[in-house]
Amino acid sequence: MRRQLIAGNWKMNTDAAGAGELAGAIAAAAGQCEGADVLVCPPSVWLSKVSDAVGGSKVAVGAQNVWYEPSGAYTGELSVDMLKETGCSFVILGHSERRHVIGETDELINKKVRASLAGGLTAVLCVGELLEEREAGRTEEVLTAQMSGGLAGVSDLSNVVIAYEPVWAIGTGKTATPEQAEAAHAHVRKWIESNYTSESAAGIRILYGGSVKPDNAATLLGQENVDGALVGGASLKSDSFLAIIEAAAS
Ligand code: PEP
Repeated sequence: MRRQLIAGNWKMNTDAAGAGELAGAIAAAAGQCEGADVLVCPPSVWLSKVSDAVGGSKVAVGAQNVWYEPSGAYTGELSVDMLKETGCSFVILGHSERRHVIGETDELINKKVRASLAGGLTAVLCVGELLEEREAGRTEEVLTAQMSGGLAGVSDLSNVVIAYEPVWAIGTGKTATPEQAEAAHAHVRKWIESNYTSESAAGIRILYGGSVKPDNAATLLGQENVDGALVGGASLKSDSFLAIIEAAAS
């Protein structure tokens, strides 16, 4: 039985005080939640502060990026061990903003996935098609390429979470229909079954991301192959994030 995971991607939002308050409010209300796992991913400068604010609760803390080398001349980057020292246990990798705004390739994302797993972080690997790719009927092809590229050389998926995030639905207010989400998730799970084992496919969590809000969460999370949500905008207010957690836990 897969436990639902509700993850908040704060992106480049919040200030120091706001990050601490938001994390504290989520931990106070959701920290003892039995029905779903909860993860918050603040900007890296607030990771330690947020880890302190959620300390003692069940809310986990994740980063939004990492570099794949352990140390050295990589100006502006952070290593897996640095993230772990802040209290991080997860890292989001391959987010569409990093793929399409910053230009990260599957090859680079794969290096980050492998370094994260080797260092003991759980990797949340994001995959998802552009609108033109969906309209050209290429959604499954794109997901397959991103899965095989991102997971190349990874033999054990126990510390991997997949987030299916159609790029056209991120931050746009447009949500995939529950049927579109379910079809994409089923494809990802089938790919895992074909390339790993049926146990890996049955156990891995596949989150949906793309304008998840309190009013659409229950239907999306009710799909057979949807095991949680990666939430952007609605994770920046404790009320809306908590309402999504409640939808997952009920
Ligand atoms: C995201 O940042 O991963 C995301 C899905 O954002 P939003 O919920 O705002 O669409």
